[in-house]
Amino acid sequence: MDEIRHEAMRGGCLCGAVRFETTLTATESHACHCEICRRWVGSALVCVTVPPDDIRFEGAENIRSYRSSEWAERAWCDRCGTTLYYHLLVGPQNYEVALGTFDAPNGVPMTLEIFIDRKPDGYAFAGDHPRWTKAETEAAFASAGEGT
Ligand SMILES: [Zn+2]
Ligand SMILES: [Zn+2]
Repeated sequence: MDEIRHEAMRGGCLCGAVRFETTLTATESHACHCEICRRWVGSALVCVTVPPDDIRFEGAENIRSYRSSEWAERAWCDRCGTTLYYHLLVGPQNYEVALGTFDAPNGVPMTLEIFIDRKPDGYAFAGDHPRWTKAETEAAFASAGEGT
């Protein structure tokens, strides 16, 4: 277990043009298997939720984003194409930062998979955590006032 991640979790893109830092204390990840995430990432989006007031970017001028729905945008590094984050534009406006962009991505257990019935059948994540279907996911987000 890497102690420093509870004080400052740092990360960045492949080419280094975009760097970020968060003082995240709740370190858990979740995976989304929805079709939009699948096409965007090439497989599942595995990400960590970061509140908007707890992330600081360097090289933000290199960040480009795509408005994938009325309620969210998806961002990448314009130099190297690295998937950076899904950003909720409504409600808590959280960032869902791609786990793979963190410098020290270990010790962050996966606690939830959503849209499990949209997952390609050729791969699966290990672990004993909840796996919500599309209907279960949409019901949960509707009650929370969030989109996907
Ligand atoms: Zn880059
Ligand atoms: Zn998704």
